[in-house]
Amino acid sequence: MKAIILEAFGGPDNLITRDVAEPKPEPSDVVVRVHAAGVCHHDVLHRAGKLPGAKTGVVLGHEIAGEVVALGSAVTSRAIGDRVVVYQRRFCGVCRSCLIGRQDMCRALSAPAIDTEGGYAELIAVPASMTIPFQAGIDWSSAALACCPIATSLRAVRSVGQIQPGDTVAITGASGGLGVHQIQIVRALGGVPIAITSSPDKATFLRELGATEVVVSPDLAFASEIWRLTGKRGVDLVIDNLGQTLAQSVRCVTTGGAVVVLGNLDQSVAPIQPGLLIARRVRVQGSGMAPIDEVRQALAMIAAGLINPVISAVLPFDRARDAHRLLDTRQTNGRVVMQGW
Ligand SMILES: [Zn+2]
Ligand SMILES: [Zn+2]
Repeated sequence: MKAIILEAFGGPDNLITRDVAEPKPEPSDVVVRVHAAGVCHHDVLHRAGKLPGAKTGVVLGHEIAGEVVALGSAVTSRAIGDRVVVYQRRFCGVCRSCLIGRQDMCRALSAPAIDTEGGYAELIAVPASMTIPFQAGIDWSSAALACCPIATSLRAVRSVGQIQPGDTVAITGASGGLGVHQIQIVRALGGVPIAITSSPDKATFLRELGATEVVVSPDLAFASEIWRLTGKRGVDLVIDNLGQTLAQSVRCVTTGGAVVVLGNLDQSVAPIQPGLLIARRVRVQGSGMAPIDEVRQALAMIAAGLINPVISAVLPFDRARDAHRLLDTRQTNGRVVMQGW
């Protein structure tokens, strides 16, 4: 089968298409024919050698939708032909976190792309428990985004952010792969999204996605504008997709509100005033990938038309280098997806 191997850390030209042996399923595995794979910022960081512990000689890609084409000898819960999304990490299934349905907190958790296997290939073998079936109404490219950008966003806004209908929600990095879906999720759950972006040319796109207001803030000092837009009340919730904006995000929140931190782009340290947290009773909480059940819910929201996966380009797999170049040069509004060879 064909697979795209990361031969060395560096630029996109290090992604090389090769013929490799087809994966053989363990007894509890299924083999999935990959129909679509999303290209994540995580893949770009891995390729560039900026992820601690990442290896070369591996196949990248953890945003996978495909079709079950072979079953391990012990698999009874999946059938040939099932359309599935592959969960983005391996998990043990028996630790305390897994047993309460929090596969995202599994201690044994590993990233497919940090190990050896990923979605930039014709086939992938994974435990059947890592596959999430979905109905025929969702196309492959849309399904590929269900786990990483969409379920992660659903978790941040709803489960961790605890949004209520009528809540005002500010979203930093709003034009990124997470932000474009958070805008839609906030609206679907009855909230009022305020998109924050550093680039003026994204404003129209963000309004078209459903942002009630767009704050263009090239220097990312947006708190005073949020304060003005909300009549000096502040927002109920901030979803911070950047991280370096955390101090500004905390200043945007109304009394009793929350900041959910999803991004850590430049790994900087944010100066936060404890007095502000106390006086305004602000909750600051980190969030990350969703557990499996929330991926199922994200697929249901896509099927219901409540979330439209935002895809800026679909390229064949053998143009993986071009896909990475699009992300490197930030020429994207939404995800780049690879589909077909
Ligand atoms: Zn991802
Ligand atoms: Zn576990």
